[in-house]
Amino acid sequence: MIKVRFPPSPTGPMHIGTARAMLFNFLFARGNNGKIVFRSEDTDRERSKVEYEEEILAGLKWLGLDFDEGPYRQSERGEIYEKHFEKLKASGKIYPCFCSAEELEAEREMQQKQKLPPRYSRKCCELKPEEIAQLEASGKNPVWRFRVEAEEIRFTDLVRGEIKELGKNISDFVIRKADKQFLYHFTVVVDDMEMEITHVIRGEDHLTNTSKHIMLFEALGAKVPTFAHLPLLLNKDRSKMSKRDESGKPATLERLKSEGYLPEAVVNFLALLGWNPGNEREFFTLTELVKEFKIEKVHKAGAVFDLERLDYCNSHYIRKLTAEDLAEKIKPFLDFEVSDEKKLIAAVKLIQERLKNLAEAKQQLRFFFTEIDYRLDLFPHTKMQVGLPEAKNALIAGLAALEGLEDWSEAAIQAALMEKVTQLGIKNGQLLWPIRVALTGEKFSPGVWEIARVLGKVETLKRLQQGIDKL
Ligand code: GLU
Repeated sequence: MIKVRFPPSPTGPMHIGTARAMLFNFLFARGNNGKIVFRSEDTDRERSKVEYEEEILAGLKWLGLDFDEGPYRQSERGEIYEKHFEKLKASGKIYPCFCSAEELEAEREMQQKQKLPPRYSRKCCELKPEEIAQLEASGKNPVWRFRVEAEEIRFTDLVRGEIKELGKNISDFVIRKADKQFLYHFTVVVDDMEMEITHVIRGEDHLTNTSKHIMLFEALGAKVPTFAHLPLLLNKDRSKMSKRDESGKPATLERLKSEGYLPEAVVNFLALLGWNPGNEREFFTLTELVKEFKIEKVHKAGAVFDLERLDYCNSHYIRKLTAEDLAEKIKPFLDFEVSDEKKLIAAVKLIQERLKNLAEAKQQLRFFFTEIDYRLDLFPHTKMQVGLPEAKNALIAGLAALEGLEDWSEAAIQAALMEKVTQLGIKNGQLLWPIRVALTGEKFSPGVWEIARVLGKVETLKRLQQGIDKL
């Protein structure tokens, strides 16, 4: 039975990399009839917050990623760690170290000077029980280090292939601090063992931890799980993406949600960060991903986080929604009142085709529902030879063309305006540009008859008159 884990550290909002790792775990587990455990790795007492854990759980729900066991919290599992710690102590695989921070620092400097890799000198490794008792009696609290004895650690990573590391390059690492807190390497291994995790799928930044983890699994007499390390997330300039992306905005799931990306688009986009099915296919639902995903097909090379791709993907899913559904999803992003539901849906239909995210709908829809205010310099259009006097004449002509119109359909509005163009012997734009400005107060918008129809006759005529008055 395959079993994987979602092990976030709740020390901040959910990072895109964490979301991607969870998605890959989900796809692997669900595609192989496996189980998923949620485990909050909250051993860092100062930085861990329940709010962050809640935010991460909400993020998973939003993405549609469920799990079968948990949430477990490492902060509530002290007794379990204690039990395994005692086992390691009894077996002599760990030892107390009383070296002070200053001593360790001096050691490090020496090694640096001699161009040696930083490594604990093992000064405390051979302390006798009497010496330990004496040091403890003098009030010193030790850290506990794992005794690295293996000559070589080898494993087969499902993504990266054969990996080997020499024991002599690994320092005797600390598993418990002087204040008795257990550290990540230890808790993660004890939990993976206790929870019978078969596959550890995580970011490549953890690759350097894996040898330590394998030694701990072996020291605890546990079966070593299979590892798969996912490629790093990169900015477009191929630098490593850290807390923020290259635009300086936080690289968090919450940000994507607040910018109006749909969860189905985010899932699709995340899945392609380091994986593809080996063909050109671009769009997948979560269910399709579960079917298609193969961990062996995950790439080694870093995956570029490209927001343009996300926009492209999001537009695809936005176009697939009904206008009613899209209007519902847009509502929370609006900062103005919408009293007429039908009008909102009609306006949404006009922007749906080109909308990249829900947040930008606010700007595109505002003029339909609020009084507009704009500067006169929006009217002139050099290429079309429209100056302020021409703009005023165009609005007067537009008003005359539409005033008497009874059928307020797009076709009728268009016909009336085009007839005016012919009658005046001017170019389409010379009439339509100023009208569009008067109706929207915007540089960009859908076309005149579409807007006029949604605004309604009364409002359209009112805005034309206001334009004339302004000019
Ligand atoms: N809590 C770790 C993290 O958020 C998980 C590491 C792991 O998957 O082992 O990076």
